[in-house]
Formats: sequence, C-alpha cells, structure tokens
Amino acid sequence: MTDRTSLDETHDPRAHSWVASANRADSDFPIQNLPFAVFRRDGTAEEFRGGVAIGDQIVDLAAAAGLGSFRGEAEIGIRAAAQPSLNALMRLGPGVWSAVRRALFEALLMGSRLQAGLQPCLVAQSDAQFSLPAQIGDYTDFYTSIHHATAVGRMMRPDNPLLPNYQWVPIGYHGRSSSIGVSGQTFHRPLGQRLPPGTTQPVVGPSVRLDYELELGIFVGAGNARGARISMQDAEEHIFGMCLLNDWSARDIQAWEYQPLGPFLAKNFATTISPWVVTLQALAPYRVPFERPQGASALLPYLDSPTNRRAGAIDIRLEALIQSAAMRERREPPQRLSSTTFRHAYWTIAQLVAHHTINGCDLRAGDLLGTGTQSGPTPGEAGSLLELSAGGSTSIQIARDETRSFLQDGDTVIFRGWCERAGAAKIGFGTAQGTVLPAIDLGEKPA
Ligand code: MN
Repeated sequence: MTDRTSLDETHDPRAHSWVASANRADSDFPIQNLPFAVFRRDGTAEEFRGGVAIGDQIVDLAAAAGLGSFRGEAEIGIRAAAQPSLNALMRLGPGVWSAVRRALFEALLMGSRLQAGLQPCLVAQSDAQFSLPAQIGDYTDFYTSIHHATAVGRMMRPDNPLLPNYQWVPIGYHGRSSSIGVSGQTFHRPLGQRLPPGTTQPVVGPSVRLDYELELGIFVGAGNARGARISMQDAEEHIFGMCLLNDWSARDIQAWEYQPLGPFLAKNFATTISPWVVTLQALAPYRVPFERPQGASALLPYLDSPTNRRAGAIDIRLEALIQSAAMRERREPPQRLSSTTFRHAYWTIAQLVAHHTINGCDLRAGDLLGTGTQSGPTPGEAGSLLELSAGGSTSIQIARDETRSFLQDGDTVIFRGWCERAGAAKIGFGTAQGTVLPAIDLGEKPA
C-alpha cells in the first residue's frame, strides 16, 4: 500500500501550469492541489458532473473523459468522476485517485502536449453552480478538539469540565445527511423547545442562541465490509479527502434536549460544506507528528500506529468570518471572528476511521465524518460563538455599530481553509458559506 503521507513530483512547488491563474502565489488551487467538486454551468439545465479546480478554472471531467487522451487507471477514474456525484470515483480507492491526480497534473503542466485538447474542457469557477460532491449516505460528527470540549464542558460543569472518557475514546454521534448543503446554503432559523433561564417550563419558538461550528469534513472513499474493522495502518486508504464543514447549532435547543442521548434537533436542520474536496495526497506536505499533551493517558493499541505518530496530524489553517445583512448592504467585507489550525486536534483522521469501525460498523463511499468544532488553545482560536462570547455573556464587535453573542437573521458565516509553509505550494479549500434566514412562525406555512 502507498503511504498517503509521502511526496512525489506532483507536490514539487516549482511546477507551473499553462492555466496562468493557477500560478499566482495567493491561488487556493495551484497545480499541486487539484481538488474535486461537482458542478454545472450556472443558469443551465446541464447534468452535474465532476470537476477539478485549477486556478480560477474547473477541468470538466465529463468533457475530459470524452477526449480519449487518458489511459489505464486514470481513464477509469476520470470516467467515474464524469457522473453527478463522486461516489463511484471515491469507491475506486487510492490507486485510481493517485493515477487521476498524476494524469491531470501532467496534462495541466506548462508545456503539456495535452494543452490544446484540454483547453476547451475548462469552465470558469465564476460561471459554475456547485452541488454536493457526493451522495452522502451517513454522516457522523466527532468532537476532536480538547480545547473546545474543555471550554464547553466548563460552562456546563465548572469543576469537572472534561469527562474522563475524553482522553480514551474519540467521542462522536450520528448526525443527519438529508440537511447537508453545499456552500451558499440558506436555511430558516430553527424552531424548537428551549428552557428560558430561571424557569422550569420549556417554551417552543425560534432559537435565540444560534451558532456555527468551525469544522472539517472527511469523505470516506472505499468502504469496509460489515464486520470487518479498518486498522490504523489501512485507515487513510479509506479516506478520499477533506472539505470545510459548518455544523450549525442551536445552543438553547441543544442545552434542553441533549441529555441523555446527545444532540438531535439542535444540529440536524442544516450543515454546510465547501464544494471542493481536497485529496489526502494533496495534503501530504502538511502532515505533522501526532502528539499527545503531557500527562495524557496511554493510547489503546487499536488507535496507534508508527505512521500516525510520525505524521498523523495535518496543519490545516482555518478561519471563520461573518458578514451581517447591514454590512452586506454597506458593501463592507466580512469580519474575521477567529482562526486556528487542525493540527491542535486531539484525535487524527486515521483514528476516527479506526474507531468508527472497531465494532464492525461498515463505512460506505461518500459517507461524511465531521471533525467536531476546531478550537485552538487560546481564546482567539475558538471555533464557535458559544466560546467567543463566553456562553453568551459577552459580545463581539463585528462592525462599527454591530455586536454579536449569537447569530442574527441575515448573517452570513464564511469559513476559509488553507495549508501554507515555506518550501511547499499553498493548498486551499476555498470557502464554505451559509446564511441565516428568519424563522418561519409556527402559524405560517413554509414557502
Ligand atoms: Mn459539531
């Protein structure tokens, strides 16, 4: 099996593309990235199909498959990606993903003999409408940030913030896939039950503590047979790639409903992901050692491996921004709320897969795992308003005359993600954004 953390010529920072926009230093999508999405030309009734980002363009993989220029596993992969979802490509496994990456890298490289053929297969990203990258069968959300778990735990249990199981078991719960949408998603403020402070009788109505959660999503590639667990050694062979993920959360509904079975209606009304899925291979230059904090308990062997110790974590920088309706009206840019990096996570993506399948649970191509809110060790790195506003007790200045403790109607939340370091090409995730619409009153009919 290939090591998903090793580098080859597709990572060479000196490589340039004949697509000029890909060579700009600030581009999210240089030739070393090549992330996948599903798209069509905006305003058309075309079939959605797979595409790969290069600079400000998309390589239309349905058109590229028709060129007859690709051979072997690359051809098989590109044909599989020509469909309205990437599940078929995801199912084919890392040998095919790697062959597609190499073939597209060579075809897009400055001086490639395929330039003339491939040029008509480019669609400007600004002309594209995106769809979900996969048909997501199952969605599981984890809780991998110990800083988030501790900060939130402290609000609920000041003297015992972190429960003892946290250091042993990657905590997760099964979410809902039907309400996952792609960037640009809008949703109505959810209604539900909440317990007003100082009362004993719940009320039903629009959430008044609506929040976001800054997360990454992990797309499962080839699944496992039911009953056959995935070992740490093989775990990353089953991961297709990663995206940005916003796990919108109604904190007041959550606080009232979550015991004893965990989140339910506080989370399942909307989840927003970025259109682009960045492959693990593209992230290889940004692997960093997995380190446990001083004094942490020992790892159980099924969650440990030499590769995971050496390079199990990934340094993905994350940023959350907000733009209110008034800011949009005044054409003010979004305001940054916080930033952090995924390298602070307490559990790695391989450990999430190994843990999820230890009991024989079968993962399937296109399943989505959320990392849980990513908060870093300092207050400015918090990945939710719940933390930034200290449980709603303070507020954050977002514009000259506007503050927030929780989200207001009309607010747009924007996530950005990217990897950057000297000696490697920048690998961007693009953005995942979503907008809160006013609640639909209990008496009204949904439009
Ligand atoms: Mn979450």
